[in-house]
Amino acid sequence: MSKTPALFIGHGSPMNTFEQNGYTEAWQAFGRNLPRPKALLVVSAHWYFGATAITAMPNPRTIHDFYGFPQALFDYEYPAAGDPDLAREITELVKPEWMGLDRDQWGLDHGTWSVLAHMYPEADIPCLQLSINALKPLDYHLKLAARLAALRERGVMIIASGNIVHNLQKIQWHQPNLALDWAERFDDAVAEQLAHEPGDILKVCGHQDYDLAVPTPDHFIPLLYIAGLAAAENTKPEPLVRGYSLGSLSMSCYGMDAAVELRKIKNGAAQLPEGVPADQTNI
Ligand code: ZN
Repeated sequence: MSKTPALFIGHGSPMNTFEQNGYTEAWQAFGRNLPRPKALLVVSAHWYFGATAITAMPNPRTIHDFYGFPQALFDYEYPAAGDPDLAREITELVKPEWMGLDRDQWGLDHGTWSVLAHMYPEADIPCLQLSINALKPLDYHLKLAARLAALRERGVMIIASGNIVHNLQKIQWHQPNLALDWAERFDDAVAEQLAHEPGDILKVCGHQDYDLAVPTPDHFIPLLYIAGLAAAENTKPEPLVRGYSLGSLSMSCYGMDAAVELRKIKNGAAQLPEGVPADQTNI
């Protein structure tokens, strides 16, 4: 039986929830064309705190964890169900690593729903979020990812949602299609590392542009989950979309067991790996 795809998604601005651009079209194509999973497990950059936890409520609330955006974004709801039984199963699976069951704290944040609004707009697939433990060293996340690999044989789609390059201080708000040169260099270095040795992804932390591309680790760490899964399975993530937004965000997406399915589409994400058309990136 083939494995359920695993994805890394560069999610960009929360406004993508309502945008129609090359990236959101790619996410729509993922949802339409990948085999429908039985549940989603999302590692979101926006649940970055001091413990490893998984949402375990039957109906996770929609979290609006930002400010300064239009009211419509605060009103947005993504009413997917949770799956407390699956959450418990996952805490068993990762043992001896400890993972807490979150019954009433978090929910689904915009790292999750800005993407799922396009992939699965009906919100009819149970969805769990996994926190990013901010107190652990980076290699912890690679190892935890390896423990999650078995979920891909149980119909669970793992989605890691962040941005490989994410520097809010350097954003060029009026240049939606711009890629600053250091952003491009770092994103290319990551692509190269994933193509050759995903298990050694932490080598990119020594790259000359790492400090600019990754001023804080929250949006970078989701990438470690796809790299860790690939290393555990002795395979490599394939680029699904390459591109940049607002100068200092990389929108690149990677997948495992996804590219083959997407290549079957005539006008979908299969056409996008070299970077989305510039006229479709009006974030
Ligand atoms: Zn974000």
